Amino acid sequence: MEGSAGLEHKHLEFTLAAVSELSSPSVSSSSTPLIARFNVDGGVAELRFHRDSEFTDGFNVDLGTSQLFKLGPVQSLWVWESSDINKEKSFSRGVAIQFRNEEESRDFHSAFEQWQNEDVIQRTHLPNGAISSCKSKFDNKIEPSSAKMYFHYYGQLLHQQNMLQDYVRTGTYYAAVIENRADFTDCVVVDVGAGSGILSLFAAQAGAKHVYAVEASEMAEYARKLIAGNSTLGQRITVIKGKVEEVELPQKADILISEPMGTLLVNERMLESYIIARDRFLVPKGKMFPSIGRIHMAPFSDEYLFVEIANKALFWQQQNYYGVDLTPLYGSAFQGYFSQPVVDAFDPRLLVSPPIFHVLDFSEIKEEDLYEIDIPLKFIASVGTRVHGLACWFDVLFNGSTVQRWLTTAPGAPTTHWYQIRCVLSQPIYVMAGQEITGRLHMIAHNAQSYTIYLTLSAKMWGPGAEQGGILQTSTCKLDLKEPYYRMSQPQPYTMAQDQQPHHLLQTQDIPITEDLEEPELLQQPSENSGAQLQ
Ligand code: SAH
Repeated sequence: MEGSAGLEHKHLEFTLAAVSELSSPSVSSSSTPLIARFNVDGGVAELRFHRDSEFTDGFNVDLGTSQLFKLGPVQSLWVWESSDINKEKSFSRGVAIQFRNEEESRDFHSAFEQWQNEDVIQRTHLPNGAISSCKSKFDNKIEPSSAKMYFHYYGQLLHQQNMLQDYVRTGTYYAAVIENRADFTDCVVVDVGAGSGILSLFAAQAGAKHVYAVEASEMAEYARKLIAGNSTLGQRITVIKGKVEEVELPQKADILISEPMGTLLVNERMLESYIIARDRFLVPKGKMFPSIGRIHMAPFSDEYLFVEIANKALFWQQQNYYGVDLTPLYGSAFQGYFSQPVVDAFDPRLLVSPPIFHVLDFSEIKEEDLYEIDIPLKFIASVGTRVHGLACWFDVLFNGSTVQRWLTTAPGAPTTHWYQIRCVLSQPIYVMAGQEITGRLHMIAHNAQSYTIYLTLSAKMWGPGAEQGGILQTSTCKLDLKEPYYRMSQPQPYTMAQDQQPHHLLQTQDIPITEDLEEPELLQQPSENSGAQLQ
C-alpha cells in the first residue's frame, strides 16, 4: 500500500493486482499494476484507476451504502448503491478487487473501515435535534427489549396522568419552579425526559427564555399538542423527540429540569440519563432541578408482612395437587417471593432505628458512579424486636436561589406514587434495645434499566456466647428492583392523602438543607393531617 490510511489523509493510493467492474468488466488485469486513487470527501469516495499514469476508469462510491466482502486472502468484492442520472432508479454496482498480497488486502480493508466510521460520525453531526445513527451510551448499556417496553409505557397518556395526579410530586415541582423564578427568568432550560411537557410549561411560566423539551417516547407528540394548545408559553418551548443521549441541541442550557426518580430513587436508571444530559447540555456551574437525591434507610419490624410473604409460597407445599407433588419447587418459590422488594406506604412506627441516608449529588457524580452503589449500614435499635428487613425511601432537593425545597417520599409524609420500598429478609434477626445493627446495601445496575440488590443485616446475638463478644447473626437476601411486589390491595394508611390536598402547595415539605448532609437525620414526624389518616 502506498500512502497512509490515516484519516487525515483524504487522498489515498493503493496498488492493486487487478480490478474488474461486475456489470461491465472494463478494468481488468494486466502485467502492469493498477493504481487505485481515492479521494474521500463528505461520505463519498471518488475512486479513480490509473495504469501507467493513464486514467482508465472511475466511480463515485457512497460509503454509507457500500459493503466490502472478503472473498479470499487476496480477493475482495466491493458493492455499493448507485442510481441513474435522474436518481429515480437505484441499483447495485460493484468491483471485484485482486490484491498483490495479503498485507495489502488487510490494509485496504482497515482503511475502508475507517472511512466508513468517519462517514458515520460526519452524518451524526447534524443540526438541532438530529438523532445520530451510531450506538449511543443508552443503547450500549440497555437491553433493546427493556427500552422498548419502557418507552412504550411512557408513551401512554394514562401513565403520564398517574404522575401528574401525584399532587405531592407535581405540586412540589411547581412550587420549586415558581418560587425560584430568578433561576429561570431569561434562561435556556432543558427538560430531561419531558413526558407530557408539564415541567417545560412550568419553566416557561417562570419566565424561561427558551425550553428544550427532550422526550424519547411517543409522548413527545402529545407534548407538542399540549404545548401548542398553551400558545403563549408554547412559543418558548421546542419539543425534541429522542433520547437525551442522542439528540443535539442548538445551544447550552443554564438550567436542567427533570423528574428522573424511580422507586428507591435509582430504579429505571434514568438518573444516568440526567447526568449524561448535564455533561452534554449544561453550561459549567449551571443549575439542576433537582440537584441532590438522598436514599434513606432504616431497619423495620413487620411480622404481618413477613408472614404474608412466607405464606405465598405455601401453595408449593402441596404434595397432591391433582396427583402431583409440588414440593420440589417450594424452596425456589419461597426465595422468589423474598426477592421482590415490597412497595407500599407503611406506618413509620414500624421502624426499629432512626434512619440514615446516602447522598447522590447530581451536579458532581459521574454517570458510572451509578452502575454500582454500595452503602454501609449502621443503626442502633430503639426497641427489642425481630427485624424483618430494611425500609427505604428517598427525597430530592430543589436548591433554588430563593427557596430550597425538598420533595420527600418518607413514610408518614403525604404519600406519593413512589410509596416506600421494603427489602424483606427470609430470615429475620433478633435485636435488643440499644443493640447495634450493621450491614450493607449493595446495588448493581443491570441492562433491564434496574438493579440487583444485595442486602446484608447483622446483629450480635444475645444469650450464650454474648459475654465472649457475641455470636453474629447475619441475614442476607438478593432482590431484583425490576420485579417489585406492589402491595396496594392492602389497606393503605395514606391513600386519601393526595386527594385531600387540593392546596398542597402550601403543604409540601420544606425541610431546610443542613450544612452537613452526612449526619443521620431523625425521621420527620407525620404532619397532623397525615397522622389523622393512620388506620
Ligand atoms: N417530566 C415529566 C415526565 C417524567 S417521567 C413529568 O414530570 O411529568 C420520565 C420521562 O422521561 C418519560 O416520559 C420517559 O419516556 C422519559 N425518558 C426516560 N429516559 C429518557 C431518555 N434517556 N431520553 C429522553 N427521554 C427519556
